[in-house]
Amino acid sequence: MEDFILHSSFFILHSSFFILHSMIYDLIIIGAGPAGLSASVYASRYGIKHAVLGEIAGGLLTQTFDVGNWIGTKEIKGQAFADAMADHAKSYGVEILPVSVERIEKKSDGNFSVIAGEKSFETKTVLVATGTKHRHLGVPGEQEFSGKGVSFCPTCDGFFFKGKRVAVVGGGDSAAEAGAYLADICTEVFVIVRESEMIAEKFWRDLLVSKKNVTVVVETQVREIRGTAKLETLLLDRPFAGKSELSVDGLFVEIGLVPNTKLLADAGAKLDRLGYVETMPDQSVGVPGIWAAGDITTNSNHFHQIVTAASEGAIAAKSILEYLQKQ
Ligand SMILES: Cc1cc2nc3c(=O)[nH]c(=O)nc-3n(C[C@H](O)[C@H](O)[C@H](O)COP(=O)(O)OP(=O)(O)OC[C@H]3O[C@@H](n4cnc5c(N)ncnc54)[C@H](O)[C@@H]3O)c2cc1C
Repeated sequence: MEDFILHSSFFILHSSFFILHSMIYDLIIIGAGPAGLSASVYASRYGIKHAVLGEIAGGLLTQTFDVGNWIGTKEIKGQAFADAMADHAKSYGVEILPVSVERIEKKSDGNFSVIAGEKSFETKTVLVATGTKHRHLGVPGEQEFSGKGVSFCPTCDGFFFKGKRVAVVGGGDSAAEAGAYLADICTEVFVIVRESEMIAEKFWRDLLVSKKNVTVVVETQVREIRGTAKLETLLLDRPFAGKSELSVDGLFVEIGLVPNTKLLADAGAKLDRLGYVETMPDQSVGVPGIWAAGDITTNSNHFHQIVTAASEGAIAAKSILEYLQKQ
């Protein structure tokens, strides 16, 4: 396949002000999380000429404290796992460029231009593996105090709340993991759960309740985030310990994730009602030349894990190989 690639100078200035990578890639992978990096390893080994365009090498793994369910590795820190995945992909010589892709344009010759800022990458196929972003509470004060007490990343920001009182909103695995992690740093942690109990995996619930400085507050929602220069109190929809306001220094929002599928929707792929891209078993999305993998898809029974993301990335690479061979 490499024979078909046009090698010339690496960067030239295009008349439309884009810096054009003058080679035509077989594949551009958008997103450098487990799905994109797994696809890259397979693509390298298949001899598919490709590049990975990803804002953060390792994706959500960089925000994960411990990973204990990747078969063959009993426990590994999220950042170390992210680095290992990126190093593995790079060991085959692939470039991982830290850029944010804005759009995918179909060209008249059937190829695509993938546009990231002033850069444009010409490619025969595209794999979108852009993962998810944190869901917001949508209450007054959330945006105002974001970065001033409100955080969406306990592993990134937890340290700033050392010796302080914090709250976590959410009842799933991420909220329980965040609560347990913060309990080792902060003096007091309140986990505010909308439902009557947490739905987190038993492992995480057991770990959370083993921490003496954690209080789980059920059937309660945060209505407003208040403060002056920074977050000071949370207004709750029902009193806790006799008060409707809870004084905290920090609030970690862990109420789920929203798929980054705008690039796919703009390219003509169909999304389901929650915004995930409808994906076939071979990871194609109904738009010739475009595939999707990882947390953004409807595949793997909506089970969003590292193992399923990596698996979908591998399947996509194989499907793309077959497509390129038929061209
Ligand atoms: C706190 C937490 C703990 C977790 N713990 C575990 C665990 O223990 N075990 C487990 O199996 N799973 C765990 N998960 C889930 C796991 O992290 C995800 O399922 C997995 O990372 C999904 O991989 P992905 O490649 O689909 O997406 P992501 O990891 O989200 O990677 C997508 C990447 O694409 C980038 N991107 C998005 N848009 C663009 C764009 N326009 N241009 C360029 N790049 C873009 C993003 O910045 C990101 O780097 C956890 C998740 C969280 C939040």
